[in-house]
Order: sequence, then C-alpha cells, then structure tokens
Amino acid sequence: MVKDTKFYDVLGVAPNAQDTELKKAYRKAALKYHPDKNPTPEAAEKFKEISHAYEILSDEQKRDIYDQYGEEGLSGAGAGGAGGAGMNADDIFSQFFGGGFGGAGGPQRPTRGKDIKHSISCTLEDLYKGKTTKLALNKTILCTECEGRGGAKGKVQQCSDCHGSGMKFVTRQMGPMIQRFQTVCDKCNGTGDIMDAKDRCTRCRGKKTEQERKILQVHVDPGMKDGQRIVFSGEGDQEPGITPGDVIFIVDEKPNADFQRKGNDLFKEYEVDLLTALAGGEIAFKHISGEWIKIQVTPGEVISPGELKVVEGQGMPIYRQSGRGNLIIQFSVKFPDSHFADEDKLKELASILPPRKEVKIPAGAVVDDCEMAKYDPSKHQQRRRADAYDSDDEDGRGGHPGVQCASQ
Ligand SMILES: [Zn+2]
Ligand SMILES: [Zn+2]
Repeated sequence: MVKDTKFYDVLGVAPNAQDTELKKAYRKAALKYHPDKNPTPEAAEKFKEISHAYEILSDEQKRDIYDQYGEEGLSGAGAGGAGGAGMNADDIFSQFFGGGFGGAGGPQRPTRGKDIKHSISCTLEDLYKGKTTKLALNKTILCTECEGRGGAKGKVQQCSDCHGSGMKFVTRQMGPMIQRFQTVCDKCNGTGDIMDAKDRCTRCRGKKTEQERKILQVHVDPGMKDGQRIVFSGEGDQEPGITPGDVIFIVDEKPNADFQRKGNDLFKEYEVDLLTALAGGEIAFKHISGEWIKIQVTPGEVISPGELKVVEGQGMPIYRQSGRGNLIIQFSVKFPDSHFADEDKLKELASILPPRKEVKIPAGAVVDDCEMAKYDPSKHQQRRRADAYDSDDEDGRGGHPGVQCASQ
C-alpha cells in the first residue's frame, strides 16, 4: 500500500516532521491564506485544507491512524459520525493563535464546545470479538421548552451592549496608559439577553439549558487498538450559539496474561517438554477466540529453546478488513529434573543424540580441575562492600557464582 502523505504535502513538511516543524509550517501557511489576509476563493479553500491537515497531524492519535490507514482510516474512526466531523478552519486558527485577527466587535466566544473524552476499558477478547457497551452520559442540552432561547419566542432580544456574549470590553485611562479589560455586561447581567421577567422560560428560568441523561451505545469493532477513538460527533454539551463538541471514547486495552499483542499479531510464550521438542508430539493452548489451538509437532522437527514459530492467520482481526494477523509462538523447553534416568539409560542417549562437543584447551595451558554446585542466591550472591571504591576482587575468587576451584 502506498502511504498517504497528502496532509504532510499540504503543509509542505516531511512525513517524519516533528511537532515543532508542523506548528511552524501551519503558522506560516495559515497567516498567508487566512481569509482576512487573502480574500480570494482559492485562498479560502487552501486555508481550509491546511487547517484540516494541521488538525489531524497535531493530534497524536489521529496522526497515528492517518499514518497507518490514510485518510480513509480517519473517516472510519468516527462511528456514527455524520460525515467529516472535526473543527472548522477558523476554530483551529483561533486555537492556535489565541483569537482571530481581532476585528471590531465584542469579545469572541468559542464557536465550538469542548470534546468530552472517556476511556473505554477493553480486554484482548473484547478487541478480538468486538463488543457493544451501553454508557450513560450526563450532558447539558438546550432547554426543550424554549429551545435554548431562555424565554418566549420573539420576546428575547440580544443585548445590544455585549452582542449577546454577556461580556464586554471596557477601556479605562490609568495615568498615561489606556487599559482594556473584559467585564460582565452590566446591561444584561451577563445573560446576553434582554427580556421581560414575564417572558422568561419557566422550565430553565432563562438559563437556556438543562441536564439530560443519555445512553450511548458504543461499538468496539474487532481489531480496534489501544488508543483508538470512537467518536460520537456533536454529542458534547449543548449551549446556545455554539456547535457542540464530540463525545470521544478512547480504547484502553488491558494486558492479557497469556497473549501479548503487537499490532495485528499475537505473541505467546509456550513451554514444551523436552521429548516433544526432540521427538515430536502435540502442543495445544486456548486462543483469545475461546477456541483451542492444536499443533502437531512432527517427529524429526526439533524445537530449540527460544525458537519462534508462526501460525499464520491466527492473530488479531484486522480493523475493518478481512483477514487476521499472525500468531507467533516463542518456545521454552522444559528439561527433566536431575536423575530422571539411571546411568545405563543415559548412555543410550549417546547413541541417539549428536556427539558431545569436544573441549579444546590449548596445549600448555594451566588447567584447574573444578567442581560445580547448585547456585544458591543466599549463599553465593556477591555482597557489595559499602566502602569499596573500586571493583578489585581482593580474594581473587568472585565473579563466577557457584564455581569453586579445588586447586587453590
Ligand atoms: Zn427554557
Ligand atoms: Zn449584555
């Protein structure tokens, strides 16, 4: 698959660009194409494009998804989202620059509400099979009686002093300086509206909003990954005059005791007995799917300690695609305990196994004949002397726990 780099190209950066490069590139382009600076339709289109690209790339999660799945992956992440959710270019611009170009008029209110984020805990089984969870959400909605007007239809007027924002700028001369500061509008007491007390909505008492408990059905699709987002666009808190933000669920993958996940692959450690490792047999274990995996080790095939084997297509499902990743098994070999067979039997092994490795000691070397014992940490662990400044071993013996030389 050819990697989609459109968003990087739009900003004129390399796909491995750091955050600071992205910011710089966005700043430069946004200032150049902002409709206030460049009022052509082409510039407006370009401004939208760069803002969208920056919105995606400045968000670590979205950038990850984009890098992996391209633009399509992003639209896919918005489960139930009404087409191309996201912020508009002006929001991104003002978030970045902390306000627009500051034209005339009253103080600006945010035009889009905050996103509400929740993490959704998922076991590896959940992410294998997918699950649907119902979650209750307490949210602010526009008053259902007055539809967010705060009063009777046609009776509520926007405050002319603050243009409905409830806040206004006041300038004050302080000695040689003129100070400009924001304060609650005194004409409307910060409500932004002017109306008669009798026209005030009785349900919300002019507050315009009320609380609602809403149940959301969250679909975790098979193959979703830790950190992936499930977006309910526009389900955030409602407020008059703003676009509600999104409710975003973020997949939180819990570790599994038997399997590790690496992308779409599953990884499992398996301890095989020595006989099966050398002479074949059967291995079996329970898979994430709940089914059992049974594998025939054919006689003649040797499994070495640490060896990796693959069962193709038995990994995790691939998100919104057919097929699955692989299952990788790393083997350890369980050796028998000491004295598992008598000496005569052991001699038979010599006729079966490859010959012993010949020891090679250079002619003329001084040879110490040693014995080894079982390693006992309480007895053989090296103690560090608190006053030691160097690591010289004065008795000349440490360093090889459990091996002592007889000839010293
Ligand atoms: Zn109301
Ligand atoms: Zn006002």
